[in-house]
Amino acid sequence: MEKKEFQAESKRLLELMINSIYTHREVFLRELISNASDAIDKIYYKALTDDSLSFDRDSYYIKVIPDKENRTLTIKDTGIGMTKDELESNLGTIAKSGSLAFKNEHEIKDGFDIIGQFGVGFYSAFMVADVVTVISKALGSDTAYKWESSGVEGYTIQPWEKDEVGTEIILKIKENTEDEDFDQYLEEFRLRSIIKKYSDFIRYPIKMDVTRSKPKDDDSGEYVDYKEEETINSMIPIWRKNKSELKDEDYENFYSEKRYGFDKPLKYIHTSVDGAIRYNAILYIPESIPFDYYTKEYEKGLELYSNGVLIMNKCPELLPDYFSFVKGLVDSEDLSLNISREMLQHDRQLKLIAKNIKKKIKNELLNMLKNEREEYEKFFKSFGMQLKYGIYSDFGAEKEFLQDLIMFYSSTEKKMVTLDEYVSRMKEDQKYIYYATGESIERIEKLPQTELVADKGYEILFFTEHVDEFAIKMLMSYKDKEFKSVSSSDLDLGDETEKETEAEQKEHKELFDFMKNVLSDKVKEVRVSKRLKTHPVCFAAAGDLSIEMEKVLNAMPDKPNIKADKILEINTNHPVFESLKNAFENDKDKLTLYTNLLYNQALLIEGLSVEDPVEFSNDICKIMV
Ligand code: ADP
Repeated sequence: MEKKEFQAESKRLLELMINSIYTHREVFLRELISNASDAIDKIYYKALTDDSLSFDRDSYYIKVIPDKENRTLTIKDTGIGMTKDELESNLGTIAKSGSLAFKNEHEIKDGFDIIGQFGVGFYSAFMVADVVTVISKALGSDTAYKWESSGVEGYTIQPWEKDEVGTEIILKIKENTEDEDFDQYLEEFRLRSIIKKYSDFIRYPIKMDVTRSKPKDDDSGEYVDYKEEETINSMIPIWRKNKSELKDEDYENFYSEKRYGFDKPLKYIHTSVDGAIRYNAILYIPESIPFDYYTKEYEKGLELYSNGVLIMNKCPELLPDYFSFVKGLVDSEDLSLNISREMLQHDRQLKLIAKNIKKKIKNELLNMLKNEREEYEKFFKSFGMQLKYGIYSDFGAEKEFLQDLIMFYSSTEKKMVTLDEYVSRMKEDQKYIYYATGESIERIEKLPQTELVADKGYEILFFTEHVDEFAIKMLMSYKDKEFKSVSSSDLDLGDETEKETEAEQKEHKELFDFMKNVLSDKVKEVRVSKRLKTHPVCFAAAGDLSIEMEKVLNAMPDKPNIKADKILEINTNHPVFESLKNAFENDKDKLTLYTNLLYNQALLIEGLSVEDPVEFSNDICKIMV
């Protein structure tokens, strides 16, 4: 017999499981039944592609066996089983939760929803059991193994006898305590109701020997108890049921039973289509971002069933990338069971379904936006970035489809607004949809470049995410209104300021030329600002590439070292300009110093780094002494 330690994180989780006062202990059964069902799915899968295995439905089931005398509850399945290695790696470590790391000890107080947060599956057995024994025989293996653990100390593993392929999980149920009743998990009626509540839609029979009574044969009028095996779950998959028969709770239970997420879904869509193509689908929009969502490991896709039989766990063809957060399943009788991966990619029926689903999701989101604004904003906070990537990618192929779903923070409304809302509020003389880019709302609010546009009473959209400006450049316009950055060199506000600045530009040409010379090719031009009100200096972008985009592009792994064409704008109404004129007349060295300082200030305001911080610091010292 081998003795092993748990991996550190598993140990910690186990401790939590054993010690936390958790109000929904009953879900351990859901977790174990789900695992059993997954294990049967796996063998089912294999049978689909491996002719030597025949899948005889009747021989696949889950059985729940309470034994009051020995205080054990056994969950037995005829699934694919686990090898010795699998027992160790699957039950000895927490793959999924590992990266999450419980950050705060004090966050994990009594009643903390561990399962809700992390979906710990198998480990939840320790909420009701002192000892957990797993006896498993893997498909294709001669030996079975027994894995056993009584908690944090570790586990033992040894060869064991077992005839059939599959797994048995034996829980030694805890003794009752003053405030916890563990006996209930050995009661038939209680187990029945837990199974009904959480696992009714499991596609394999969940059997239990239930006690019945019948009259004695001897005409005494007395009754005797006997046991009879019964299938507890209805097995009718939820998506085949009528919407009217189902409650929100059913959809929510199904969501966690399927492990689509550990949160509650924000929205569900249940649809049955009966036309050129027939299918049932249940789709969920999660509330929070899956922990691996923005990593390479995340795989999009929906479960795909052909007439009630699972044919693929994650069919990516059913979801566009921009809706990759959607979870759920599609069942269609028009799809062949033995369809291969390659064939699926080109399947016409599948394409049709995907197209329908895409529209359905969009409509649901639009509905949410219209009728449940708060919910939508919650959704957008989690997945809005994905939609904006959707606009940008594929050369904007889907930009029109997605443009009404995106939102930005508004300078005047002080909250998230849609493009439609922006345009409907535009002032009569306003030509463009204005935006400003920066790291955060607070930073953009302080940007000198916003001063003039804001002064005219125009609303400004704040772009705080890298993708924002790229998406908008792809969109180009919305309802015939073009987008314009408040930092663009040509604000085109169409008023007198334009002419005035031109005149001033001419008047101080020599001064500006001198400054441009000092800065050489760091800037394209030095000129009179049209937009500054209270600040002395800022940058404007001359070309298509904005300064924000320069930052994003240079943050990429291959560091392309791309530079936006910068114009240094000077506020001629600022007292600093007097100093510049003075220096130009009397002290060119001073003007050189001032020019460098102003340039560096503009860099800092933009959130760019100063090229030579030591020189910058020395320059400041020079004017201080
Ligand atoms: P999850 O099911 O979320 O991956 P669990 O901790 O519940 O996490 O289970 C870990 C792994 O152990 C499963 O992914 C599966 O590979 C394996 N496993 C658990 N229960 C069974 C079972 N009854 N039969 C076969 N494999 C199982």
